[in-house]
Amino acid sequence: MAYNGIMQKPREILKEVFGYDDFRTGQLDIIEKVLAHKHALAIMPTGGGKSITYQLPALMFEGITLVISPLISLMKDQVDGLNAMGIDATFLNSTLPGSEQAQRMSDIRAGLYKMLYVSPERLEIPSFFGFIQQLPIELIAIDEAHVMSQWGHDFRPSYLNILPLLSQISGQPAVLGLTATATERVRQNLQQLLGVADEDTVLTGFARDNLALKIAHQVDKRQYVQDYLRANQGKSGIIYAATRKQVDELYTSLNKQGMKVGRYHAGLPEKERQVMQEAFLYDEVEVMIATNAFGMGINKPDVRFVIHYAVPGNIEAYYQEIGRAGRDGLPSEALLLYAPQDIHLQEFFVQKSEGTEAYKQNEYNKIREMNAFANTGTCLPRYLLAYFGEVVAKDCGQCSNCLDSRDIVDVTTDSQRVLANVVRMNQSFGKTMVAKVLKGSHDAAVKKYDYLTTLPTYGLMKERTIKDISRFIDYLTADGYLKIEGGEYPVLKLTAMGVRVLKGELVVEKRVNRQVIAQRQATS
Ligand code: ADP
Repeated sequence: MAYNGIMQKPREILKEVFGYDDFRTGQLDIIEKVLAHKHALAIMPTGGGKSITYQLPALMFEGITLVISPLISLMKDQVDGLNAMGIDATFLNSTLPGSEQAQRMSDIRAGLYKMLYVSPERLEIPSFFGFIQQLPIELIAIDEAHVMSQWGHDFRPSYLNILPLLSQISGQPAVLGLTATATERVRQNLQQLLGVADEDTVLTGFARDNLALKIAHQVDKRQYVQDYLRANQGKSGIIYAATRKQVDELYTSLNKQGMKVGRYHAGLPEKERQVMQEAFLYDEVEVMIATNAFGMGINKPDVRFVIHYAVPGNIEAYYQEIGRAGRDGLPSEALLLYAPQDIHLQEFFVQKSEGTEAYKQNEYNKIREMNAFANTGTCLPRYLLAYFGEVVAKDCGQCSNCLDSRDIVDVTTDSQRVLANVVRMNQSFGKTMVAKVLKGSHDAAVKKYDYLTTLPTYGLMKERTIKDISRFIDYLTADGYLKIEGGEYPVLKLTAMGVRVLKGELVVEKRVNRQVIAQRQATS
């Protein structure tokens, strides 16, 4: 079906070209701003339907819509999809042979295309930019716009180079930035970078009601995944691991057991990655085991679960990755397998990364926020949405915290022990040292500071393991009684709430296994 009516209304085009009866929340609002040639910012969750907000205006405009996307490997799929709907779209990137590029450029000049997808790197090539400047560009859509912000989770400095270029494109085209992840800080940064007014920022809720969030602590991860896949055979899912090695190991082990798994990471040859991606899209492999290199822009609507085999480095990445489940709106699950070592691994990545101190500090903070989320006792979506600045009235009732049926116990005394110890240690040590002192450890690191072993809090929780105490500290941090400050060598400090607990003005409660309570009673 070819599109033929410039005079049609957005809703008619939605039905006729895209085959949908109604707009989703925010879509029409964005489209209207774009049609009015404004600079706008669309912040919608993954799967929220951002693409239509520039594809549909592209059909209504006389001129060309330029789509800037960092996802070279997916441009072809996106363009094929549009072509299949009768939309004249094409792309130009480094994967095409020179002759093909020349042909396409000449066709674009001749006005054969409504939409052109390019990578930001391409725009930086002066001769290519010269070509763009001669085109009647009416809309510039910048996909995954958060990568432009240094406060975003996937910052690509090269993206900033294209900003001054965009203002040189003639005809004052509309500009639309699109992203699924924007904290308040990123949002303001993007508004400023793209020249978007507050009223032209369209922010739909981040809530994804069809996603049940679960966090499992201290499980045998491999066994857990095996059992999970067995119980969910026939369903499509993604497992995110932290490193290529972890992907390979898990892939080999699950493959050996005859499970229909695929793998994807940047260390594999391009060919293999492509084969795997397609096998996943066409359900030949049910479960993709991947690093975070997989998934940006993958539009598989029926992914029923996303498992994080290790804790991601920040909440934005976590949110974006879980968003790949349940795009079709049907019930789906996002499961995080938490282990404290994962946090150290993420810190190690930052430590080894290249970047300024300020950048690293920001990354460390993000890891801490992720750790806090993984250890909170509150409703998970509620916590997550609060992170993005959204206040939710009620608990979701389906996350692992909401469904936690363990007993609530008063842990005020233990909390006071931890907090008092942090104060005694002059609020100048990190979690492990605090835990070791409470345990009464004879470890060399503790002995190095003579006075620590003489503190009245030394050995105050000796009946518990260091791991257990550390987790409890994580809990107190997540729920706002302690805070972490500093970069590579973070230290624990009391918050105002922590001070109140210490003074006996606040009670701290926590859900605990019956078994654990029984053990505690037996030992205390
Ligand atoms: P995003 O880019 O925000 O992650 P997409 O644009 O890829 O999301 O859209 C996600 C899915 O929702 C796609 O399968 C798309 O076809 C579908 N979709 C988009 N808009 C609508 C709509 N108004 N009604 C029904 N489905 C829609």
